[in-house]
Amino acid sequence: MRDYHIHTDNSFDSVAKMEDYCKRAIEIGLKEVAFMEHFDSNPSDESTGFFKYEKYKSEILNCREVYGDRLKITAGLELGEPHEYHKMHEEYKKDKFFDLFIGAVHFVNGQVIHRTYNEQETADKIIEEYFAALHQTVKTANFNLVAHIDVIKRYVPEAMGSFKPEEYRMMIEDILKDIIKSPLAIEVNSSGLRQKLKEPLPAYEIIQWYKDLGGEKIVYASDSHRIEHLASDYHRLEREMKDLGFKGFAIWEDGEWK
Ligand SMILES: [Zn+2]
Ligand SMILES: [Zn+2]
Repeated sequence: MRDYHIHTDNSFDSVAKMEDYCKRAIEIGLKEVAFMEHFDSNPSDESTGFFKYEKYKSEILNCREVYGDRLKITAGLELGEPHEYHKMHEEYKKDKFFDLFIGAVHFVNGQVIHRTYNEQETADKIIEEYFAALHQTVKTANFNLVAHIDVIKRYVPEAMGSFKPEEYRMMIEDILKDIIKSPLAIEVNSSGLRQKLKEPLPAYEIIQWYKDLGGEKIVYASDSHRIEHLASDYHRLEREMKDLGFKGFAIWEDGEWK
């Protein structure tokens, strides 16, 4: 098994050490870990400017030297809002050694999605604006893996009602169709299973639509910010994805999904 979405203390919201993840990964029998640190550009984001390339690179090289014979260690970034910052991302990537990029939307119209929503806003508006931004990001496609497709469900205020994928099916399927046409893979992000959502991101229905539309490139990802969350709920996901008709999962090799 492989974990394609891990944060260390190179991300603003984690204090976990890369080396500790590597030890844990070997202990539980993972074949690959991908350290996908937050790389954000929105001026009001506390993550902006936090990532330090030289520190990260030296840790990756050190871990590869110590653990590389037992574990594939992939280096990457979780790029925030590629549709808004892709020119800057392209510039930044140029002289760097990264293997893999995740595209994520955490800000919509300049505002963070886990903000307090005001009374004039509705669940519909919040959800539709998020998916519109995600669609733009998918079209940019200057990355390899689409992060937590329906993450907005985590932040819609309970009083507004819960997110029901079926109500946004057309919108979501349009995005999935563009993903399927592209070289992108989607992650089945297990963080929702260990939190109160009790389902992965995206929801099972959305994964099923992806499959039915011809999508095959899924990977498992824990979105760990702590050592103990590495590859969390993978056995369950493996079973469930098999039930949805997936034969396996995609593997990142030589710059493409195989
Ligand atoms: Zn994210
Ligand atoms: Zn993440």
